[in-house]
Amino acid sequence: MQKKSILIVLLLIILSSYFVYAYSAKEFLQDYKELITGKAVQENKGGLFEEIVDFFKSLFGKKNVGADIRREQDKEVSQLNEQLVYLNEKYQQIYNKQNLDELVEINNKRKQKTIELMQKDPNEALKLVFDENERNKFPLEVQKDMEEKIVQEGKLEIRYADDFENPKNSKYYYDIIDDNFNKINVYPNKNINLVSNSRVEINGYKLENNLLVDVNNENLQILSLNEKAEETNENLGEQRTIVILMDYVDENNVLYPTISREDAQKAIFEEANDYYKENSYGKTWLTGNIVGPYKTTKPCSEYESIKLADKDVNFQNYERIIIFYPFYLRQNNICNIGGWGYDGISSLGKNYWSTEDGLISASYSLNLRKDLWVTGHELGHQFGVMHANLLDCNNLGYFEPDLCNLDYYGDPFDIMGNEGTRSRGLNPHLNAYNKEVIGYLSEEEIINQIEGEFDLKPIELGGDGIKLIKIPMPNKIYEYSLEYRQPIGFDKDIDDKLYDGVLLHITMPWHGADTSLYYPKDITIKPGEVFEDHSDNDVKIKVLSAYGSYAKVNIESKIQPFSRLDGILIEPKWGFIETLPNTINTIKLSIHNTGVIKAENIIAKLYRYEFIIVNNSKNGATEYIEELLSEENFGNLDAGEYKIIGLRYNTDEPRYNKYLIKINSENNFNEDGIKLRFTNRVSYEGAYLSLANFYLRDEFNTRLDKPPKVNQKILLIVDIYNQGLETAQNSTLSIYEAERTCNPYGCNYQPIGKIFETTRDLFKDLNREVFYNLEYTPRKSGKTYLTLELNHPNNRNPQKEFYYEFDVQPNKRPSSIKEKYER
Ligand SMILES: [Zn+2]
Repeated sequence: MQKKSILIVLLLIILSSYFVYAYSAKEFLQDYKELITGKAVQENKGGLFEEIVDFFKSLFGKKNVGADIRREQDKEVSQLNEQLVYLNEKYQQIYNKQNLDELVEINNKRKQKTIELMQKDPNEALKLVFDENERNKFPLEVQKDMEEKIVQEGKLEIRYADDFENPKNSKYYYDIIDDNFNKINVYPNKNINLVSNSRVEINGYKLENNLLVDVNNENLQILSLNEKAEETNENLGEQRTIVILMDYVDENNVLYPTISREDAQKAIFEEANDYYKENSYGKTWLTGNIVGPYKTTKPCSEYESIKLADKDVNFQNYERIIIFYPFYLRQNNICNIGGWGYDGISSLGKNYWSTEDGLISASYSLNLRKDLWVTGHELGHQFGVMHANLLDCNNLGYFEPDLCNLDYYGDPFDIMGNEGTRSRGLNPHLNAYNKEVIGYLSEEEIINQIEGEFDLKPIELGGDGIKLIKIPMPNKIYEYSLEYRQPIGFDKDIDDKLYDGVLLHITMPWHGADTSLYYPKDITIKPGEVFEDHSDNDVKIKVLSAYGSYAKVNIESKIQPFSRLDGILIEPKWGFIETLPNTINTIKLSIHNTGVIKAENIIAKLYRYEFIIVNNSKNGATEYIEELLSEENFGNLDAGEYKIIGLRYNTDEPRYNKYLIKINSENNFNEDGIKLRFTNRVSYEGAYLSLANFYLRDEFNTRLDKPPKVNQKILLIVDIYNQGLETAQNSTLSIYEAERTCNPYGCNYQPIGKIFETTRDLFKDLNREVFYNLEYTPRKSGKTYLTLELNHPNNRNPQKEFYYEFDVQPNKRPSSIKEKYER
């Protein structure tokens, strides 16, 4: 037994060193200069994050998890695919109901299996999707239940499930919220490392409510990032929190109670509140209420929890949601994802929720433990910070990604990592970088520097002084962050070695990324010690002294002084705005000089742009057309400073208008500057209904290639869209047979009998059409005229009636379709 486990350990070491070697040699150390200096951070953030996280995750050898289950799965889907193609060929030869039914049945089976595969293994699912050409070969009845290549724009919602026992099982979840607040599950084949509420355009395969994405720069366009804006910070001040307690009832009707109200009060409004109050220097505190327990048979469902609490809670009064389910569900891995249990799950930042009190924006956590190391950690995610890892570089004394191993969650000195200290009941402060991300540090407490002597104040205390020194590394994907810790408050009794020097973190020059603590030799760089960076930047960090109230640090480097502009969109908030034609709008931006010298002559240019699809192939290439609308000079910006700027533009006709802002300065390190995008949906007032399309198909939903015959059952396809700002509720569509009378001035269509009427809600959306499939059997031959009426009290489109005409051919023998095919 022991021998066996030693063998396994050895094997793991060999395997993991293979991954270290394979990844770092091939990808991590390849020349990132192009990415950083060229297209750079703004455009390629997603890609870069991904590479880094992939690198970190690859160190675990995460790749083969659940491979056996998958093999079974994809075999099933590929068999169903083959069956479907075969049945379709059969149906294309003989159009009959039996063949169609058979096709529909197999397709439904395939749909379910494909959705399961999308969830479990997006990479495999991508191999088994039908492309557009293949899909078009099937009848419409089948196509509607097949994946469809679409472009989906919306706000990304990100959740993270933490399994502290087996960190490698921890996992991201993604949803995209469209502009009508519909939620679509996103299954990317790689992690999308952005912060929740970033606005994106995703090119993927949609099946029901699921979107499968092959993540690359073509398929994932970042339209705007959600980062900390200088003007408003939702993470500061009172955090109105609702705690929902959920009891679990299993299939044998046994009740497993969650924690008591007293325990919940203590866990959230005492312990977690104290923790965040201290971490934020009194800038953040939690207030609120506890409701429940509610009994449920659904384990770990945030939707179920919110639904049950809805009758007791006015969700408009809260922006943080904390749900407790019993620990029993954790012990038995009943709350799990693909078989892996978790301790807590959280949104990274806020999501939208539909409640009885209306649409709300709130972050949430679902906890299976009441300990602060879980509740506090999950709240960290709610405030937008990621994990604190530990980089083990084998006592190198310098940082060389190629030679380091990553211990996920392994930073013992941050609640976002905390491995090692939590077993002792200790919950150290968030590191300085994480405090910056949440917004606890002011501009004066953070510096970007490449050389000089500085005093670092302990991060546990508020007030004046530098808490975070960042050393930007112009030609690297990481930077260094320095901080100083003292045994104060939550940082008391952690480890004596933590307090006698300066801590070094490897961090990223943008938000939403993990941090990694690096031990040069011991935990800190101690007085008299020097950390040396062996890159071209040749950074030397020397700690001169570290006494209780401050540490003195000297930095030397060969980095050339540079300015570097970074920017985010403040308004429109999620990169999306709805307006009416001919209105003047103002865009608000926050620009930040993350370099070390003044950025000179900052020029902002506003463009309208469009993507044009060049060809319709599976990986349809797009072309990009831009038109300059305005240009303005915003002067200079000192190193480390923010500036809020406004740009005005005038909207034109109703449609989706896409805008691009480019900001650059004369001496910006990133030559391409900042690029930010947003969309303006210019709509009509009220509801504005129009007919998009009206055409005929046969009863099997196949395109008619010749006019229908008398008594032949056909389908009228009516396709309507609403270009207004409001939903057209209960809009009525009526179709009449009509007679035409013409005079020299034109023709007139007189309705003679109603053949169809239906009522439904038509949502506002310029791009989305609503289809009606209506059955109709023409009774006489010759020209047939139909009129169509769209009625809605709020419809502002003056054109309410539409006409359609087509020929009907005589059919001598009264025969049914069935007879025709049986002959
Ligand atoms: Zn976590």
